[in-house]
Amino acid sequence: MEKKSKQINQNKMEKLVALLKRRGFIFPSSDIYGGIQAAYDYGPLGVELKNNIKRAWWKRFVQSKLDMVGLDAAIIMHPKVWEASGHVKNFTDPLVDCKKCKKRFRADHLLPANAKSPGYDKEKPFFVSDYQCPDCGGELTEVRQFNLMFQTFMGPLQEDAAKVYLRPETAGGIFVNFKNVVDSMRLRVPFGIGQIGKAFRNEITVENFIFRTREFEQMEVEYFVHPREWEKYFNEWLEIMKGWCKFLGIKDSNLHLQEIPESERAFYSQRTIDFEYDYPFGRKELYGLAYRTDYDLKQHQKFSGQSLEYTDPLTKEKYIPHIIEPSLGVDRSVLVVLLEAYTEIIGGRTTTTEATKELEVVLSLPYELAPVKIAILPLAKKESLVVMAKKIAQDLGNNYAVQYDETGSIGRRYRRQDEIGTPYCLTIDFDTITDQAVTVRDRDSMQQERVAIKDLDNFFKLKFN
Ligand code: ATP
Repeated sequence: MEKKSKQINQNKMEKLVALLKRRGFIFPSSDIYGGIQAAYDYGPLGVELKNNIKRAWWKRFVQSKLDMVGLDAAIIMHPKVWEASGHVKNFTDPLVDCKKCKKRFRADHLLPANAKSPGYDKEKPFFVSDYQCPDCGGELTEVRQFNLMFQTFMGPLQEDAAKVYLRPETAGGIFVNFKNVVDSMRLRVPFGIGQIGKAFRNEITVENFIFRTREFEQMEVEYFVHPREWEKYFNEWLEIMKGWCKFLGIKDSNLHLQEIPESERAFYSQRTIDFEYDYPFGRKELYGLAYRTDYDLKQHQKFSGQSLEYTDPLTKEKYIPHIIEPSLGVDRSVLVVLLEAYTEIIGGRTTTTEATKELEVVLSLPYELAPVKIAILPLAKKESLVVMAKKIAQDLGNNYAVQYDETGSIGRRYRRQDEIGTPYCLTIDFDTITDQAVTVRDRDSMQQERVAIKDLDNFFKLKFN
């Protein structure tokens, strides 16, 4: 039984990945050169979906909250930032090599013989003889700590003094701008700074499509609070994150909130909750929410020599604010949205002969996230219909992402739009010329209704709000 569900899940990932390439969402990077390991390019529809997710996050986590502001910090920062944060010393994963097949693995992902969960524990001795290569059964090397930060050099000299890092998380840019934001924005604690941007980690193993890559995007908030109030704001952000997951279309049964025990938390964190998701390849992290105490600002104060103390403008109390950090991956958001939306209808939904298929796929994306909102389809490639259809596409295109498509049978065009998750298809037929109305088809119910061209604006306003 377990074997069968593993097979179905693997098939689901394979089918989704194939669909996403075929329909212009996500391509392997540098495809014509045979690709490069675990790097992906977002195609014309993928970039729309990803931007819609980022825009929705920005609106909900930053713009609509009076106590939040945004930031867009540089990717390459002063190397001391990463000394202060502990990344230079501690941002490592335990690495083992297989002596036989030469593959590399994360020791903390290895299963000891007859065990269900990984046995590696940083604090305990690790006996490599308890393990073997998961691929070929070969003998493994001892564990070495491998730093995940990508290094490069600033300027023409490749020497230690010019060494810099690609940021491994966006948070660093926020911590070091705390003082600039306080001084320029007249904000009073509690307040937060949100940022969306690329992060880079030289992961030992990359896996599962866009789940774990070496270049990815994050959406992070650092929320500054008085230490007395951390619990209140931790709970507030917990609720906001839960609401976000609902908005993405994540079913409650697929989401699991893991309270991380003290022994597994970063030493400075007093509470961490991982948001885990049931991916087809197993239950793994989607997002994290952490109470980081005053660790970050204290460290940057120490390493920069600049005071990061905050003075409350009303009470005049001086203190280093504590931080609550909701940390969300953009690419994992894209993946779960697609997994939740991917629906197969065996036998197909339509009965008209030419469109009948054994299997139909519908991407039931939330309207706000769908890359195309309305497809404009002239029934035939006749000039009278094409001219009207293009005019309608032009008009609606001012307010919505539209796609104009005149090729193939209407049934096939509907299927194509269902596969990319377009909520509405609008068909211009020969009656349109006389009655100045079009047929609007709903992706989920497949209901069709006739709507006057002059009413389309209002019709879609109601549908999309
Ligand atoms: P994991 O345990 O899966 O390696 P993490 O705990 O190291 O993740 P964080 O440092 O908390 O991750 O990063 C915050 C978020 O950034 C994660 O919850 C995830 O959504 C995203 N993320 C982290 N690493 C990657 C990666 N290699 N590829 C894609 N997204 C990532």
